[in-house]
Amino acid sequence: MTNVESFTLDHTKVKAPFVRKSGMEERNGIRVSKFDLRLLQPNSEEMPTGAVHTLEHFLAGFMREKLDGVIDISPMGCRTGFYMITWGDVQVKAVIEALAYSLEKVLEQDEVPAANELQCGNYRDHSLSSAKEYAKQVLMKGLSDEIYQ
Ligand SMILES: [Zn+2]
Repeated sequence: MTNVESFTLDHTKVKAPFVRKSGMEERNGIRVSKFDLRLLQPNSEEMPTGAVHTLEHFLAGFMREKLDGVIDISPMGCRTGFYMITWGDVQVKAVIEALAYSLEKVLEQDEVPAANELQCGNYRDHSLSSAKEYAKQVLMKGLSDEIYQ
């Protein structure tokens, strides 16, 4: 099997929440950066799908308000965080700032964007209250750039 970078991370040693730059790739002079936005502790916590889905909808907009060159932000299948890919050589500190900004914004919202049959693939599976709970929890713990605290 192909070597997958994220499988080489020892998930028993990390301490969430943190932002990790998992790699940078360059093709024909064009760089992209990859990040783990790990909100919850692996193998001890996970978000219900409604919360992770709602956070996904919010992060899609709020992260782009704050951070230039976001290509994609997608939920981790384990539901403990998100993967993000950006254009260019983006620094972890900038991602932490944007993520903290985004989670603060989540706390102010009364409605989930694009939570309808036309714009979403499972619009019934959202939870604004649960998304807010996790956003608050992560902000209280604080986002670190150290994965082993
Ligand atoms: Zn959706």
